Amino acid sequence: MIIIMEPGTAQENIDRVVKSLENKGFKIVLNQGEVMTVIAAIGDKRLVDPHALGCLEGVRKVKLIQEPYKLASRESHTHDTVVEFDNGVKIGGYEKPVLMVGPCSVEKDFDGLLQVATVAKEYGCQFLRGGAFKPRTSPYDFQGLEEKALIYLARAREKTGLLVVTEVMDSSDVDMIANYADLIQIGARNMQNFKLLKAVGKCNKPVLLKRGLASTIREFLLAAEHIMCNGNERVILCERGIRTFDDSFTRNTLDISAVPVIRKYSHLPIIVDPSHGTGRRYLIEPMSKAALIAGAHGVMMEVHHDPENASSDGAQSLSIEQFKSVAKHLNKLIGRIDYDNKIVKSEMELNNKV
Ligand code: PEP
Ligand code: MN
Repeated sequence: MIIIMEPGTAQENIDRVVKSLENKGFKIVLNQGEVMTVIAAIGDKRLVDPHALGCLEGVRKVKLIQEPYKLASRESHTHDTVVEFDNGVKIGGYEKPVLMVGPCSVEKDFDGLLQVATVAKEYGCQFLRGGAFKPRTSPYDFQGLEEKALIYLARAREKTGLLVVTEVMDSSDVDMIANYADLIQIGARNMQNFKLLKAVGKCNKPVLLKRGLASTIREFLLAAEHIMCNGNERVILCERGIRTFDDSFTRNTLDISAVPVIRKYSHLPIIVDPSHGTGRRYLIEPMSKAALIAGAHGVMMEVHHDPENASSDGAQSLSIEQFKSVAKHLNKLIGRIDYDNKIVKSEMELNNKV
């Protein structure tokens, strides 16, 4: 922790800060210039409240060197977390990236869901997504089929072998959803619903945590910390776009740089959702490619058997035919990335021409 004192502050103010930190066991390195004094305090920062310290007379600024999240941080956990599922699918580290696809909402037409799931399996996807409890901006929009949707998802899993990912919105539903899902999603709107984070922290299923609509990466990692410090360390992060000033052509601004930033500061897996990230189906393929090249551990996309008539998010859903083409290109890209060396091989290298 670094404490910067006001220029020319009285010696007694400096002594007061030093003494209070020494009393808490901090080792002090004092850098006293002619005008400015900077105090470096080495010790357990949990023993002081930086805001209270910042209010002491003569203190200009308190800077924390260590990140406030511990369990999610690379500082405390240098190797990558790899989340493994019952069927052997792995997410994280240098494992092959995964694809999660399915409709925004699970709808009444089970055959439509099964069509998507069957093609998804055929094209190498590992997860079927679909909302049963929908966080809709308007209370008049489709709210989801609730448990009936979970039954449909489980039935589609039985028929295809895909793993199921679906969202929980209320802590009282966690146990019920955990009975059906392989991966429990916390949606963007609930990233800072701390009671819900605590509840999934206590459940025995991995959690897919989506970045909040206007959250910083630090807040995102602190939300993951809430889940982890309650006992569940199997957390997968998902960048899904953030609110910025520019909504002229897209719903959100997809922050691809969050992928390498999170890989640098955290050991947790990070995937990208270009459907919610952009709101436009034509952007799913280019943004998925960008995400994979940037080091994402997977991509989540919305796919619907009849997007024009979808109950939610049709404009950002691929049709089955469009999905086939996108999946073909993404699988080709995934096959070309050398994950150990993090290098994308060119066609020529692959053909041994260079
Ligand atoms: C979803 O994935 O169904 C969803 C609602 O996404 P988000 O929470 O990112 O808006
Ligand atoms: Mn959606």
